[in-house]
Amino acid sequence: MRNKIEFGACSDIGCVREGNEDSFGAAPDVRLFVLSDGMGGLAFGEVASRIAVETIIREYRGAKAGTGLNGDSIEGVSEASNRLVSAIHAANKAIYQNAEQNGANQQMGATVVAVHLAEERMSLAHVGDSRAYRLRGGQLEQLTRDHSFIAEQVRQGRMTQLEAGRSGLQNVLLRALGTSPKVDVEITEELILDGDIVLLCSDGLTRELTDARIAAILGSCDEAQEAADRLVEAAKQAGGGDNITAIVLRRDANSRNSFARMFRIGR
Ligand code: CA
Repeated sequence: MRNKIEFGACSDIGCVREGNEDSFGAAPDVRLFVLSDGMGGLAFGEVASRIAVETIIREYRGAKAGTGLNGDSIEGVSEASNRLVSAIHAANKAIYQNAEQNGANQQMGATVVAVHLAEERMSLAHVGDSRAYRLRGGQLEQLTRDHSFIAEQVRQGRMTQLEAGRSGLQNVLLRALGTSPKVDVEITEELILDGDIVLLCSDGLTRELTDARIAAILGSCDEAQEAADRLVEAAKQAGGGDNITAIVLRRDANSRNSFARMFRIGR
């Protein structure tokens, strides 16, 4: 019997912004979940993140159906991981071409964090500063490293976490979808165990809530949807300075709510 994955998702404009540039999508039939945070003037950010989510899900399904992969396959990772990276390359191209057609070059881009859940492994791909976390046995672990200027400064020891938190350069990304014809996609594979909770989120959540707060909320909810709603609400209460999106996935052999489709989209 397949292990059940329960999921919930919530996206909210926050308290300050005039539009919601975050997008998310769930394709439980192929066990794929995608979150994207768009950027760009006018409505370009909203368009970019929507193209990212739609293209990745469509291309992943297409590759599964055998219509081929984009680019070279990566050795040492699963077929699902290769499909996912290939789908993200296609999304990069789609956003880049859309930006060219609209004269929006330099102004249009998006992050992505996407997960494919196999039986015992998950493929995790990301570009930019949208993150994935895993809660296991009460411990929260960040599974992605931000592709941002600030995070890189911290990794190289040129800046402390405290300085990073106060920096005015937090929006500077080192990688994004749609800003150049090619993109470097980071892919990892992780074990997934019964009871694991995986969170995908945009920076509007992680800039407002500490890891301890995120862990407490994830650990105290009975259902994935409740956790997603409560995380987004807590980030709003904390200031809601940006759009906030959370996808919560829970692997549970005994869950009653397999692939529960319950979304709340706040505007
Ligand atoms: Ca954001």
